[in-house]
Amino acid sequence: MSLTLEEKFEKMKEIRNELLQFKESPLYEYRLKHKFFPVVGEGSHTAHIIFIGEAPGKNEAETGRPFCGKSGKVLDHMLDSIQLNRSDVYITNIVKDRPPENRDPNEEEIKMYSPFLDKQIDIIQPRVLATLGRFSMNYIMNKFGLSDKIESISKVHGKEFTANASYGPISIIPLYHPAVALYDGSNKETILADFQVLKKYL
Ligand code: URA
Repeated sequence: MSLTLEEKFEKMKEIRNELLQFKESPLYEYRLKHKFFPVVGEGSHTAHIIFIGEAPGKNEAETGRPFCGKSGKVLDHMLDSIQLNRSDVYITNIVKDRPPENRDPNEEEIKMYSPFLDKQIDIIQPRVLATLGRFSMNYIMNKFGLSDKIESISKVHGKEFTANASYGPISIIPLYHPAVALYDGSNKETILADFQVLKKYL
């Protein structure tokens, strides 16, 4: 069942409120101590495409906005290359609070925070889930029954997989995390080429 814009907005607000009070999370105290924000997500509640990153970094936790640091600049450039604005899509992460010292999110954190992402997918009901990096790729492919298709991201980046969401058929497109272009500029061309795959969903 699809929701009205008002219903979507209300449900997203509930998620924000739950996250603000998410005392069970091992990252909650760390958030309070540093006066960080949970990063819920940003963009259109009627987006056809959701981009799913890993976890907020320092800039994101300080502002409450996803991908607003160096990786975000790369992501903006990639979106620009296919004439998309942030306001056309929805951008979020699996883990909504910043893990200390920019470490990767761990299994426990992914397990605790993924129900929020699941709800966001059901609220927005996108046709495409574009995962950014291996953590969101693994989570989303497992969630949608594609465990047997999971390979290293260097093998599956830019490929399309089809699956059934609760609201209908979807495409899952694993992409490299934008940060890989920061470590090695030569990866940028590959990421740009992968983004071309998204064009047909615009
Ligand atoms: N890296 C991510 O995975 N997500 C962000 O929001 C920022 C950096």
